[in-house]
Amino acid sequence: MSQYPDSVEQLIEFFRTFRGVGRRGAERYVLSLLDWQESKIREFGSLISGIPDKVGHCPECGSLAEKGRLCEICENPRRDVTSICVVESFAQLQSIENSHVFKGVYHVLGGKISPLDDEYGENLNLASLPERIERNQVKEVIIALGADVEGRATALYIADMLKDCSIRVTQLSQGIPAGANIAFADSATIGAALKNRMEL
Ligand SMILES: [Zn+2]
Repeated sequence: MSQYPDSVEQLIEFFRTFRGVGRRGAERYVLSLLDWQESKIREFGSLISGIPDKVGHCPECGSLAEKGRLCEICENPRRDVTSICVVESFAQLQSIENSHVFKGVYHVLGGKISPLDDEYGENLNLASLPERIERNQVKEVIIALGADVEGRATALYIADMLKDCSIRVTQLSQGIPAGANIAFADSATIGAALKNRMEL
């Protein structure tokens, strides 16, 4: 097997860190990248190096957003701010959006409670949720987390946190899949799980 130049090898190692990309896949990405025009390579590089300055979290819901700005959903006056759907991450938000059933807004936790990993919710985007509920006179919080142990623990934690707010707290009739790809293919199921949501 011939050796790649060091700088190419380093690039391959970066691509390998993507979920689902193995050594061969990483090599294919890098080899096709090396076929690009110089200007395209430079543009790609500057987009990546600009991420820390340009990409941040929506100050309202915690979703992905241009740094210092609201996300598209929070900016959209047609979304119903009295209905909040709590999700783990942006990938799950996208799967719910793809089902075209939900017209409210989101609250993105950025993780789940996982006692085994000593994660008890301190690092989750939860502190602002009660304030959002009060400010927007929220009527319902829909908890759309996975049906795994962590998802259930997180759902119960949030339900307990909101027990003194006089709002409806519901959850999907089934958990949403963890992998975004599965979820994308399965938006009909997610739509049905949303319509058939149950009190928590
Ligand atoms: Zn937002």
